[in-house]
Amino acid sequence: MAQVNTVLGPIHPKQLGMTSLHEHILFSTPGWEYSPEARQHFDAPRVFEKIYNDLLDFKAVGGVTVVDVSGIGIGRDIEFYVCLSRYTQVNIVACTGFWAERKILPYFAERGIDYHTELFVKELTQGMGTTTVKAGVIKVGNSGDRFTRLEEMTYRAAARASRRIGAAIVTHGTQFAKKQAEILLDEGADPTRVIISHLDAAYALDLERDKELARKGFYIGYDHIGTEGWSSAAYAMPDEKRIELVLEMIRSGFLNQIVLANDTNGWSVGLVQRGTQQHTYAHLLRNFVPKLLKSGISEDEIHTMLVVTPANVLPF
Ligand SMILES: [Zn+2]
Repeated sequence: MAQVNTVLGPIHPKQLGMTSLHEHILFSTPGWEYSPEARQHFDAPRVFEKIYNDLLDFKAVGGVTVVDVSGIGIGRDIEFYVCLSRYTQVNIVACTGFWAERKILPYFAERGIDYHTELFVKELTQGMGTTTVKAGVIKVGNSGDRFTRLEEMTYRAAARASRRIGAAIVTHGTQFAKKQAEILLDEGADPTRVIISHLDAAYALDLERDKELARKGFYIGYDHIGTEGWSSAAYAMPDEKRIELVLEMIRSGFLNQIVLANDTNGWSVGLVQRGTQQHTYAHLLRNFVPKLLKSGISEDEIHTMLVVTPANVLPF
């Protein structure tokens, strides 16, 4: 029976409940821990309290599971995640894999495809890093202006690991969404195990692209929800525009392939704290879902996107 790996152990897909499939508990740039300001960046009780409260707030509006897609080197801290999940009783699914090249540590950059395939498989089946806590998904990313050789290698390794284990892949790097799909398909990945993330980036909206990817079987991530006018990010835009994307994809028959999330950071370690007070894990359920309902999307359709789809995507 396929199960979902959370940081507290495997669970039945029915235990996922309302799930946000693309979030970050911790997010950083590798190397911060060696800076003289490290203590300032990561005052553990303060960071714990902030994320603990965010997770309880998410739970208060009906949230049950958060998927952390930070991965190796950009903040993933297994023991910290275990404590957060234990004390909040919110399921946390952590990932193996990487963000784009500039946040891949040299140690890993110097290694090849077989190493990475085995690394991903090991983290999914035995445990992440030196722990016995298993990853639940594979994250891969590419840069905004190009798709580097190193990045392509991580995509190919992710496809091989996914083929072997069945785990889902979550991507990053909207400008190259079609190339992501090509590489993964070339490596034999099952598109129904892949979420192409961030397709709601303001600078790269393309509904025809989204439909084409969905026709091939991929999941379509509209997962920057809540990154609106307050943000200087190039991908920011009003949530109302995201609702238009969701409506059009539902009209086109792709309800079962839409993924929704906030892509927010519980704590940005050593970086400018991203977001507003409102842009926390709870935003999706507290502010976005009521707008979906008002736009004519039904409770059933919302249940499909937030409960049924995650239960299809995550188990292996
Ligand atoms: Zn993200």
